[in-house]
Parts: sequence; structure tokens; C-alpha cells
Amino acid sequence: MKLARNYIDGSWHAGSGTMETINPSTGEVASVFSPGDTDCADAAVSAARRAFERGGWSNNPRKRAAVLLAMADAIERIRGQLVAVSVSECGKRTAEMEGEVGAAVSELRYYAGVARTIFGRVQEVGEGQLSIFSREPIGVAAIIVPWNAPVTLLARSLGPALAAGCTVVVKPAPQTSLTNALMIEAMAAVPDLPPGVLNSVNENGHEVGQALVVHREVDAISFTGSRHTAGRIFEASAATLKRLNLELGGKAPAVVFADADLDRALPEIVRGATAAAGQMCTAVTRVLVESAAYEQVGDRLAQHFRALNVNAADDPRSEMGPVIDMANRDRLAAIVASASDVLVAGGHPDDAPAGGSYLSPSLIAVDDRTSTLVRDELFGPIVTIERFGDEADATKSANATDFGLAASVWTRDGSRAQRIARSIKSGTVWINSHNRLFAEAETGGYKQSGIGRLHGLMGLDVFMETKHIFSEAGFVPAVGY
Ligand code: NAD
Repeated sequence: MKLARNYIDGSWHAGSGTMETINPSTGEVASVFSPGDTDCADAAVSAARRAFERGGWSNNPRKRAAVLLAMADAIERIRGQLVAVSVSECGKRTAEMEGEVGAAVSELRYYAGVARTIFGRVQEVGEGQLSIFSREPIGVAAIIVPWNAPVTLLARSLGPALAAGCTVVVKPAPQTSLTNALMIEAMAAVPDLPPGVLNSVNENGHEVGQALVVHREVDAISFTGSRHTAGRIFEASAATLKRLNLELGGKAPAVVFADADLDRALPEIVRGATAAAGQMCTAVTRVLVESAAYEQVGDRLAQHFRALNVNAADDPRSEMGPVIDMANRDRLAAIVASASDVLVAGGHPDDAPAGGSYLSPSLIAVDDRTSTLVRDELFGPIVTIERFGDEADATKSANATDFGLAASVWTRDGSRAQRIARSIKSGTVWINSHNRLFAEAETGGYKQSGIGRLHGLMGLDVFMETKHIFSEAGFVPAVGY
């Protein structure tokens, strides 16, 4: 079995000992990685700093564009291997991981284009007085990513960081270390990539992540993960006032009006709720239904949930894979067991492998908008169904959590859809669809779902500074008209 090592300054390094990751579909060993330590983190940051200051990368947008294009090709070439390894490490279905790899390739190609179109501006603030505003790469960026979309989320931060001209240190999640190492290996083999521009350090804890967060030579952090960890990063990075991009948890509501096309809406809502076994920041976790359609939507969702084929992530029949591990399976099952109005209770499907961490989807009716089922991110296949009266009540309900990452509205009334979309405090609102993400379209969170945006042109912002250079010409002769 291939060992996932640490990539520092253009070469691979073993860390201290080895750790195993577990395949959530079977309970067997999925991969082995070698965790780094704070010395590795320090060496990686120093390499990234040298590569940044050396020039030839940070001041060469054409080279960066060419490297990003070649990286996208390299990821495409290992598509099959990457899908197989990531399916066994994070338990997402084969089709889901194929989609992820495609999205990562699209992301890198998009930012290759962006690298060559980063503009400043010039303004004549007074006669002969020129203000030049130039955009410069900020320096060394730490990219810290979770396990639940290990391919796309790495590309989503790496693309804009490299396009901007930064050099980077990646810190993958322990669960998906080999997926990450395969990506780094493919991208690092691009001949024009200077050593030190791309580094990656594994870990099984939080020492390496913390070391990056407090490091004086790290200028920016692009973190994707939980609200809890983000709080620790926010605090730890305060001493050096780092630029932060935080992409955090969600509690996405699907707001269903009685006039919605339910034949289209419900299968899509079920897909939105069960993608990655509900372990997606944008997953549908609450279905808010107008009173007139409440019973019908509840009955039909329950039927969908009961009929869903929950099975091994690499089984072509599977419509939903396992959750990441037994501890999370047990945590989620306990939440369902302690709820009062459970319409469908998830459990281990009869024909799924016995050693896997399976929990079929649960549907719970909730009246109380202050309930933890409504307010907290549960991160698993548990969906609440809640009733609303009118548009104002729908908005109030949708906004009843501290999160604000994503939401969807389902109605045939286009004006109403726009009104609701504008009134929900959320970084993304889909109308008659859910979970549609594009490299070109900014995503991010309102409230405690995050700070800043990734994707699109705004994805560059955390990786760049704006410099004002003022020039007093002084010699410009007066113009006599
Ligand atoms: P997590 O916060 O536990 O871990 C994320 C990363 O942070 C991992 O690499 C982890 O090793 C690292 N880490 C842990 N402690 C750290 C510390 N003290 N300092 C620095 N790094 C540290 O999150 P998770 O459980 O792996 O992922 C699930 C969470 O991610 C969910 O809340 C989900 O909603 C969120 N998420 C958000 C988005 C988004 O785009 N908004 C996308 C995917 C996942």
C-alpha cells in the first residue's frame, strides 16, 4: 500500500511513524500515512517563503497560468486512481467522487485564466498626480481542508492562491491523507513548478495546523472546516493578525411552497439531503413546508427516505454511502434516538457490509425553532421537517439559525422566489434546485458560516494585497486652453 508522506521544498519526507485510515464502507484499513510534526510545518513554511521571495513565481502570471493548466491535466490523468482512493478513504460514492474530481479540474482551469487577468488601476487624482493601485500576492498561504470533499476543496483554495502568486503549505485532514498526497504528487510533477511553491504536511491531531496558524511567516489562512475549529484558528491567529478566509458549517433549509412542482422538487431535495450521507456543508438539513402541503411533503419524503439504497460507496447500486466513522454514526444515531417526533428512523441497512459505519436517513418533525435539531449543524443524514404559514414566516424560520451558508426555495412563482431569496441571510440561495456550485460563482457564509468568499474573482481576495503608489509629477506644465 502506498504511504502518504509530506511534501516539502520539492521532495517527499517521512514524518514520525505511520497511521492508518479506516474505510467507512467496510471498517477495514483504507490507507496509511506518515504524520508530520511542527518541524515539518516550519520547514514547509520556510521553503514557501524562500520560493515566494526568490521571484520567478510571484511575479510571473503567465508561468502560473501554464502551471495551473498543467496541474489540471495532471489531476485528470490520475482520475481513476484518485476516485478509487478517495471513495475508500471518505466513504463518498464513486459517482460523487467522479463529480468532485471533475469540479477540481474545472477549478484549476478557471484560475489559470484568472492568473493572467489580475488588474490594478490608475487614477489621476489631481492634475499630473497619479495614483497607481496594484494588486500583489500576499505571500505564504496555509490551506487547511477537511475530509468531506478532499479533492474539490483543496483545488478551490489552491487555484486562487497560486493564481494570485502565493506559495502554499497544505494541511489535509487525517482521514484523507492519501487522496491529498496523490493530488500533490500529480501537481508537483508539473515540470515548471518551482520547488517550495507547493508543500503539504500531514497530521493526526492539531499541532501542525496550529503551528501554521501562529507562524510569523504565514500571511494568510484559507480554512475550510467546522465552526468550532475556526474559533480556535481565529483566536490563535490574532497575535499575528493574519488574513483569514473561513468556509464553515451550514444548516441549509429547503423552503417549499405549496405551488412547487413536487415531482421535481422532492427527488432533488432528497439528493441534496443525502449527498455525502448529509456530510456536506450545503446539504439540505431542514425542509420548511407551507402548511397546505405539509402532510403531503412529509409522506412523500418519508417514502423516498425509506426506499433509498444505502450501501458501500463503491457499490454501483448505492444511492448513499456510510458516514465517516463509527463514532459519528453513534453520535448521529443517539440524536435520532432522543428525538420525539421521528417519522423515519435511520439504522444500519440489512444488506450493507457489517463493518461499515452506515446510518440510513432519518426524518424528524419539529415545531420548536429553538430546538438544537434546528439550530445546530448535525453533519449527517438527519433532516427536520417544519411547517410555515406565509412568506414572512418562511423567512423567519429559514433565518432561525446562526449559520447562513446555503438555502433553496421551491415555488412556481418567480417573484416570490426572488423575494424569499433576498430575505434569507445566506451566501447562496438556489431557486428550484440545490447544491449547484461553479468555479465562477462566489460561495461563502453569512453569520457564523464564515468570513470571505471562495470561487470566482473574490476567491483571490484573501491571497492578495492592494498597494497604492502615488506619483507627484510636479513637472507637468500648466495647460492654457
Ligand atoms: P474540522 O474543523 O474538524 O477539521 C478541518 C481541518 O482543520 C482538518 O484538516 C483538521 O485536521 C484541521 N484542524 C483541526 N483542529 C485544528 C486547529 N486547532 N488548528 C488548525 N487546524 C486544525 O472539520 P471536519 O470535521 O474535518 O469537516 C467538517 C466541517 O467542515 C463541517 O462543519 C462542514 O460544514 C465544514 N465544511 C465547510 C465547507 C464550506 O465550504 N463552507 C465545505 C466543507 C466542509
